[in-house]
Amino acid sequence: MLVMTEINSVGNSAVETVDSLIHARWIVPVEDSNSERILTHHSIAIIDGKIVDILDSELARKRYRATDVTELSEHILIPGLINAHTHAAMSLFRGMADDLTLKDWLSHHIWPAEEKWVNEQFVWDGSMLAFAEMLRGGTTCFSDMYFFPNIVGKAAQESGIRANISVPILDFPSAWAQNADEYIHKGIQLHDDYRNHPLINVNFGPHAPYTVSDQPLSRIQTLAEEMDGTIQIHLHETQDEVEDAKNATGKRPIQRLHDLGLLTPRLQAVHMTQVDDNDLALLRDSGSHVIHCPESNLKLASGFCPTAKLMEAGINVALGTDGAASNNDLDMFSEMRTAALLAKAVAGDASALPAAQALKMATLNGAKALGIDDHVGSLEVGKEADIVAVTTNSPECQPVYHVISQLVYACNSDKVTDVWIAGRRMLDNQHLTTLDESSILKAARDWADKIAQHD
Ligand SMILES: [Zn+2]
Repeated sequence: MLVMTEINSVGNSAVETVDSLIHARWIVPVEDSNSERILTHHSIAIIDGKIVDILDSELARKRYRATDVTELSEHILIPGLINAHTHAAMSLFRGMADDLTLKDWLSHHIWPAEEKWVNEQFVWDGSMLAFAEMLRGGTTCFSDMYFFPNIVGKAAQESGIRANISVPILDFPSAWAQNADEYIHKGIQLHDDYRNHPLINVNFGPHAPYTVSDQPLSRIQTLAEEMDGTIQIHLHETQDEVEDAKNATGKRPIQRLHDLGLLTPRLQAVHMTQVDDNDLALLRDSGSHVIHCPESNLKLASGFCPTAKLMEAGINVALGTDGAASNNDLDMFSEMRTAALLAKAVAGDASALPAAQALKMATLNGAKALGIDDHVGSLEVGKEADIVAVTTNSPECQPVYHVISQLVYACNSDKVTDVWIAGRRMLDNQHLTTLDESSILKAARDWADKIAQHD
């Protein structure tokens, strides 16, 4: 769409028409070259879902007119948060089994529950519950790894949220597929179904090195190259995983992936709580990404990802919540804060992972890991308008000395008031515009009743 220009009735200065104009007290664009930059009293102009201008508000009021104008006088605008690793539908297992070791939690609770309950309806209802929570908390894009990814795609399409679907691949059967070949085959089909979708990407999500054998891993790598796609895998989540692999194969899991050719910039390694010098060199030299899930790692006592050390080495580290069954929420604000605090404790250095870096992990770094940083992840002219407004008008957010510190260390996700994805308003003054919250909550209650009865 062309920018319409006409003569202002007051003077001769040209007034341009845009779709939307958002005037804000502060904007944190999260630019790659200067993630600490803060713009005060600035505005964002949007046409066809894209940011066409970011400029001083006084100037914006003179230069642009829009049918949709939003005044956010006490708010901070940030890029939409990117939850780079989750299992959305597992929201229906939130709080079902807590305070257990990872092995006990998985083998005696989660896997049996998945076998019994996971079907298309479960994935639809659980995903919708997750989308409602994520959108209300400022998450505009998520990367999912779960069964029935076709249903996750449909639900994402209906809700309008941006999605990266990492199709699950395992050697073992599930309700969705019988063996690695079938998972891969269905994954390729789904990739084709969404090939031209503006908000949904479909990629590969081999579950973990201990659940996928060499042959399918190599095949996934070849396909990812052919399809120009990405691969997300749980990797080095616990010390046991690394020790078991060494006993079984003589190699650390990341070395095995390297030998199979999977360590490339297409790879997203989720967790990486166990990192020795050689692992670090492999990640650095390959350009692979790390997705840090601090709250899940803490809750399952999995270990600590040395984020400050990885980032110092130039490795891109993004942020994810993991599923709500091991977190127990999908709140990227608390995840940012936990990441920043944990990094300081792990590095023994209070200056490790400053607030601006934590915000970058939750936005631009996530976009880089998912391979979508050419159009999202920061607020810049030419990028899509995935925007989150956070109010500072509450006791816990005042006074404001340092905007980014406030966002990471003081503001909670309930301070998110408005959310746009590709210029479309998804949250309007804390009300979801595309989802029926009451029916989503009813479905969640019904599932809990059913599941608790059989437990
Ligand atoms: Zn996970």
